[in-house]
Amino acid sequence: MPGVHAYLDYNATAPLRAGARAAMVEVLDVVGNPSSVHGPGRAARKILETARTQVSALACADPADLVFTSGATEANALALRGASRRLIASAVEHPSVLENAAGATIVQVDENGVVDLANLEFVLDGDDRPALISVMAANNETGAIQPVAAVADLARRHGTWLHVDAVQLAGKGDLQDVWACADLLSLSAHKIGGPSGVGALLTKPGVELKSLVAGGGQERGRRSGTENLIGIAGFGAAAEAATRDLADMDRIADLRDRLESGVRSLDQAAQIYGAAARRLPNTSCIGLPGMPAETQVMNLDLAGVAVSAGAACSSGKVRASHVLSAMGFDQHAASSAIRVSLGWDSTEKDVDIFLNAWAAMSARRHAA
Ligand code: PMP
Repeated sequence: MPGVHAYLDYNATAPLRAGARAAMVEVLDVVGNPSSVHGPGRAARKILETARTQVSALACADPADLVFTSGATEANALALRGASRRLIASAVEHPSVLENAAGATIVQVDENGVVDLANLEFVLDGDDRPALISVMAANNETGAIQPVAAVADLARRHGTWLHVDAVQLAGKGDLQDVWACADLLSLSAHKIGGPSGVGALLTKPGVELKSLVAGGGQERGRRSGTENLIGIAGFGAAAEAATRDLADMDRIADLRDRLESGVRSLDQAAQIYGAAARRLPNTSCIGLPGMPAETQVMNLDLAGVAVSAGAACSSGKVRASHVLSAMGFDQHAASSAIRVSLGWDSTEKDVDIFLNAWAAMSARRHAA
């Protein structure tokens, strides 16, 4: 990457994996439409179904339960809008959940960003209409892992469907147990080394959804439109590689721990948000009070270090993080945190480059 010495923004988009690239290049020359019955069509269908099996394997799911979409944003929209049920969502969900859940009852989280199960039970007890709960497997800003099994237990007792946005857990933790207790689950290719613009929604048998995109009835009528075969082939290859690389996550957690203890020893005022929660091995949400996140991201960028502000919207403008606000932090804290996210290609050297740049930045803050 030109000018980038340390890419530490895997939670935004991970680098394309070599296997995903190769799979896509191969499919570029495939002519058939997977819905056509002739030979080329059947060859395209085979590529599609192979990828469906590979992506489903991430969660040990039945490939028949997987619908390919244009990304996790669409998968989340299909789950929430398609369910036609009363909606309940945690306060720290991704905007692609919250913005597709108009009128949802919002469930509180604690100071580590973990769903408050007593509050969820209270919400469920208060209304017995058929509902859908949306709780993410792990948070994109802090890495906090949600108690999905306990949420599922409450959901089951109240006859409620459970949707899990598992975008950030995929490739970093085990999805099998999560899928075993959920009714719907969203995935995104570009967070695990596949291309952007491809995602998937898993749905358990018996979960009926209203399709958002009507047309030719592809994906068993659940999502019309000729499938993005190139992207889907890349997603399949990335899913396989991500499963293999799960074994490397202890190394990533060690790097993350080294990065955090470095930050703490450089500046006592630094905050690590969600540190007391069970977290993803790769994510660190670091607050530097008194310096807006936008300034921090620019400072680090000048030093060739790519990270995100806690919450960046698509225009690139940084707002106070709704995640940190929900965790009880004030506007000031919620707008001075950055997210550092490592991945399978991260090294000790990346951590050293980050710590050098961060040290210079924190020294400037003291000098100001
Ligand atoms: N959910 C979470 C938790 C995410 O981090 C993201 C990506 N930022 C999405 C959903 C949206 O995924 P996509 O980019 O594939 O639409």
